[in-house]
Parts: sequence; structure tokens; C-alpha cells
Amino acid sequence: MAEPRTVAVVGGGLIGVSCALVLAREGHRVTVIEEGRIGHGCSFGNGAQYNAGSSLPMAHPGVMWRALRWLTDTNGPVRLTPRELLRNLPWLARFLRIGRPDAWEAAYTALHALNAPCAALYRDMLGDTDWRRVFRPNGALHVWRDTAPGVLDALVDSLRAKHDVAFEKLNAAQLRELEPGLSRDYQRGIYFPNSGHVSSPLALVEGLMERAAALGVTTRAARVNAIEPGTEGVTLQTSTGPHRSDIVVIAAGIASRTLARSLCVSLSLASERGYHIGLPGLSKVISRPVTDAASAFVATPLDDGLRVVGIAEFAAPDAPRDAKQSSKLAASIRTMLPDLPVTKVSDWMGVRPSTPDSLPIIGPHPKHDAILFATGHGHMGISGAPMTAALVSDLVAGRTPRRPCAPYRVR
Ligand SMILES: Cc1cc2nc3c(=O)[nH]c(=O)nc-3n(C[C@H](O)[C@H](O)[C@H](O)COP(=O)(O)OP(=O)(O)OC[C@H]3O[C@@H](n4cnc5c(N)ncnc54)[C@H](O)[C@@H]3O)c2cc1C
Repeated sequence: MAEPRTVAVVGGGLIGVSCALVLAREGHRVTVIEEGRIGHGCSFGNGAQYNAGSSLPMAHPGVMWRALRWLTDTNGPVRLTPRELLRNLPWLARFLRIGRPDAWEAAYTALHALNAPCAALYRDMLGDTDWRRVFRPNGALHVWRDTAPGVLDALVDSLRAKHDVAFEKLNAAQLRELEPGLSRDYQRGIYFPNSGHVSSPLALVEGLMERAAALGVTTRAARVNAIEPGTEGVTLQTSTGPHRSDIVVIAAGIASRTLARSLCVSLSLASERGYHIGLPGLSKVISRPVTDAASAFVATPLDDGLRVVGIAEFAAPDAPRDAKQSSKLAASIRTMLPDLPVTKVSDWMGVRPSTPDSLPIIGPHPKHDAILFATGHGHMGISGAPMTAALVSDLVAGRTPRRPCAPYRVR
């Protein structure tokens, strides 16, 4: 058991709440400070998928050509206006550098170390009963319309095999056996038996928060406006007055960028907005998350219906939503599941805090040990949250972290 400290966690999303729970289990006195509602940021509307090696760093060998294709296709999944291109130039330059085979493999290795044990860690955090209530360990499926795998596919296969990721290649008939509703256009797929999804991303955050509250974690409804490190701990200036603690964990999603800037740290985080549409009642049309590999959209069966997620829109977090992006998802799902009786559709947009190498930022402020960052989980917050929380608890306790933290350092 670590020496008990007071800890303020800024942000009540999946990452902040996971950190709060694990820290409370170690005996720390934790307060989550959230300006909105717990679990209603990016963590609310995601694709609900957790993966054990099925996801890769977004930048990969050959990414430049794929990105150019996507950028020039107005119906494609990536949106980057010339203005945003200029604003994100340093981030994009780093992104392209990660596309080199050696850098990409190093990023995959670090991502895998973080994500692979996530289902088991959640089981420990939630307890058996709640884990079974929320988790659907039913595997995940990636599907392709073309018949011949490319050079990148072979590279990815060998990387996964090297890291003992379980996967099975499926032909068209096997795909249909697994997911009978899929379009006959799909010719091949890969099934990942150790991946899966949660029945509701909000229920996941709420379940973790319930456990945390039972261990004494409190919440403070306030906006953190300033962070003031002192000789004895840190003072947060919030919209409801000052809050002092020994340690502060900044887990504020994309807003971590602004909070870091006020502490003279420039985090390499892009505001990569994603969209979902929800099709209520259609929760049984597929049994697991299905990713259309060519256009990178994912359909996941949630308790309250089918959720379709995708789009990488580089734009300011608070810029207006673009209805065209939701329409792209609606068009995509009709091609994936042609017999779908689509009647009612809800839509949502959220901001992924994305790093160029797809690795989160977990570690202390370069000058103030009492301030830790836990952000930058991009497309993989569900998979990365439990190990992030475990590493944060190691750092707060002053122990050697259970995984080398260098790849996730503040950058
Ligand atoms: C369309 C889409 C699909 C996705 N699909 C998946 C998926 O299938 N699997 C997966 O693993 N990941 C997925 N993700 C990514 C995942 O949702 C994110 O990585 C994760 O939610 C990030 O969690 P977070 O806690 O860092 O941020 P958030 O959930 O955004 O939480 C941050 C919180 O901080 C609060 N906050 C901000 N500033 C302040 C302040 N100054 N004071 C107080 N509070 C503050 C905010 O209100 C918010 O509640 C997807 C994302 C999107 C957009």
C-alpha cells in the first residue's frame, strides 16, 4: 500500500474515472473535478470496442498515399481543411515520421503493451458481476471488399504474430457464417477472438465511478481554470473556488492541451473529431464490432441499438458539427448491412485527443512531479484506460512502473 496522498483528477471521462478508482484502491483520497457530467465527453459516444492487438497506430508504412487519397475524396473518412492543415503541420509531420517501418513497429509494441491486458484489468476493477453486465467478449471482425491482401497486410500479420495476437483469416463464406447480415460484397476478413466490446460506453464509466465512489472518491462539479504548483502540493483555481491537493492528474481529454499550455508544456495533441450515428432497437443485427477496413468505419451492437462510428475531422473542438459527416456514416452502414431497416437515427460528435504516434501521454510534468498527465488516448481510450490508471498509480506511489513509461512520456 502506497503512502496515502490527496489527489485531484481533472476530468471525469473514462481515463480520469479509471485513474480515480485505481488510486482510491491504493488508499489515496481522490476527488474528480468535472465541469460537465461524468462520462459525457468523448467517452460517451465512442465505438465501444476494446482490442487486444487488433488496432494499430494510425500512422503506418504507406500512410502518406492513403491519407492523400482520403483527403482528396470529399466522401472519404478524413476531413482536413487548408486552414486546419496549416494549424496541424507540426503534428502531421510527426505523424508521417511514425509511418516509417521501424518507428511504426516501436509504436505498435508500446500500444500493445498498454492495450492487451485491458479486459482482465477491467474485470479486476469492476468485479465479476459488473464486468459481465457491461463486457461482451465476443471478438471483433475486420472486413474487406477486395480479395487480395496488400503488402501492408502481410507486414501487419507478421507484427501481430510476433506479439502473440490471436487472429483468424476468414473467406467470404466464413464471414457470412459469423455475421449473416453482412453484404455479399465482402470477400475476406480477420476475426480477433480476444477483442470485444462494451454494451454501453456510458455504463462503463458509470460502473467504474460507482466503484470509485464506494471507496470514498468524491466529485466536484467545477471547471478548472488554472493550475498552480507550489512547494507543498498543487492548488487548482476552479469555477467554485480553490482546491488544494498533494497530486494533480490531468485527464481532461482534448482540454488537457490547454491546461498543459498554461503550465508551459506543449502537448502534441490534435483535436480529431469523430462522429457516431445510433440506430435504436437494432442491437441484434450483428454480434460484435465490425470494421470496414477500407473506409475505417465501425458498427457495434450496443444494448440500445446499433452504433456506427468513424470520421477523422481535424477541426477546433468547439467548431459546429458537420451534418455531412453523419450522412457518410449512414451511407456506409447501408453498404455494410444492406437489409438494415433504418428508421430513426440519432447522431453525435466527440473529440478524440490524438497524438501523432497513437500513444497516450502518461507521466509527470517535466518540472513539477506533483502534476501528472493521463491523456492522448485517441482512438483507443477503452483499451488503454486500465493500464493508464495502473501506471498513474505506480507513479503516484513512487514505484517502478509495471511497464516502462518512456514511450508514453510527456511530449
Ligand atoms: C467516434 C469515436 C469513436 C471511438 N471509438 C472508440 C472505440 O471503439 N474504442 C476505444 O477504445 N476508443 C474509442 N474512441 C476513443 C475514446 O472515446 C477516447 O479515447 C476516450 O473517450 C478519451 O477519454 P478521456 O477521458 O481522455 O476524455 P473525455 O471522455 O473527453 O473526458 C474528459 C473530461 O474532462 C472534462 N474537462 C475538460 N476540461 C475540464 C476542465 N477545465 N475542468 C473540469 N473538467 C474538464 C470534460 O468535460 C470531459 O468530461 C472513439 C472516439 C470517437 C470520437
